[in-house]
Amino acid sequence: MSGEEGRSDKERRIGDERLKDEVMTCYAASCGLCRRNCPIYDITGRMVHSSTGKNRIIRGYMEGKIEPSQELAEAVFTCTLCGNCDVMCAVPNTEHFIDMRQELVEKGFFIGPLDAVSRNVEATGSIYAQPMAEPRPGKVTVYAGCRWGYRANALRRILAVLELAGMEPRILDEVCCGYPLRVFGFKDRYDANRGRLVKVLEDQEEILTLCPTCTVELVEGNGLPARHAMEAMVERLGDMEVKRPLDAVVTYHDPCHNARYMNVVDEPRVLLRHIGATIVEMPNHGVHTTCCGGGGGLVATRSDLATEVGKARVQEAVATGATILTTDCPTCFSNLREAAQEMGNPIKVTLIWDLLLRALR
Ligand code: SF4
Ligand code: SF4
Repeated sequence: MSGEEGRSDKERRIGDERLKDEVMTCYAASCGLCRRNCPIYDITGRMVHSSTGKNRIIRGYMEGKIEPSQELAEAVFTCTLCGNCDVMCAVPNTEHFIDMRQELVEKGFFIGPLDAVSRNVEATGSIYAQPMAEPRPGKVTVYAGCRWGYRANALRRILAVLELAGMEPRILDEVCCGYPLRVFGFKDRYDANRGRLVKVLEDQEEILTLCPTCTVELVEGNGLPARHAMEAMVERLGDMEVKRPLDAVVTYHDPCHNARYMNVVDEPRVLLRHIGATIVEMPNHGVHTTCCGGGGGLVATRSDLATEVGKARVQEAVATGATILTTDCPTCFSNLREAAQEMGNPIKVTLIWDLLLRALR
């Protein structure tokens, strides 16, 4: 499947008959299934923040009953784009919301900090306006993305794990995968960045990613042969001698983009069991995972809500009795760790890569 096919199959545009049909169906059904586990609705209790509410806004907008405004933008952007409402419903609701975001930005209504982040990408290739990961030669192309590019020490540890599994990671002269530009509503900047990204990655036979969101964007948005590095790790279990088994009870937080869109659910658990961990599951796991609060730009739009969502997830992890909460996504890791810190660290939040490094080195 090419990226164009992958994305165009889901993509909606304001005014499309398909989008009109879908929001009308939602209006007629008003079943509310999407509100079960919507991380924002769970906290605010406001219909406007649920998928149902956003679909009603879009319907009203398309019928000319709602005018674009900053207030409208703030409602539509109060969402982590976690995709719980895609899993609970027959239609790709998050694509509705992304298109409404792009429509509002086109009309001049956007969230200031998200504009700043996307300008950073335009100017430097990175959401942080910092250099991306330092290129290095090797045999397997690894795409670090903005978040690991910014954290050079953590990236070094991740690459060391890949080496311990027998890989020789190569890093190219990267730019952002473009996901933030698309979902923050800046379609023109997304299209411009896409040209740069594809130029860097188009000849690669395989790309291993370190961020679930980058994986989705490289595959669905660009048709690139990308997959999460944990998938390659699982194929090399025989090469991974465990020198210091992890004698701990661990719970794994499934990042939304891994579990709901790329079907990467078993791999982290296989890796954790390989190094000796005992896994206990949170009630919401796999495709029914709960958001960490860090997605969709919410940290910039409503940092208070992002932290509350993170705390709810940490609480769910604590209730399992595990001593370690682990994940592989850089955004989930940061948000969960900050939430845990605010709660007085009731559980240790650790990157799965650090657990692997400790066990394999
Ligand atoms: S978005 Fe889907 S699940 Fe939610 S109320 Fe509408 S039809 Fe039901
Ligand atoms: S994407 Fe997530 S946060 Fe946004 S409306 Fe759907 S369930 Fe709620």
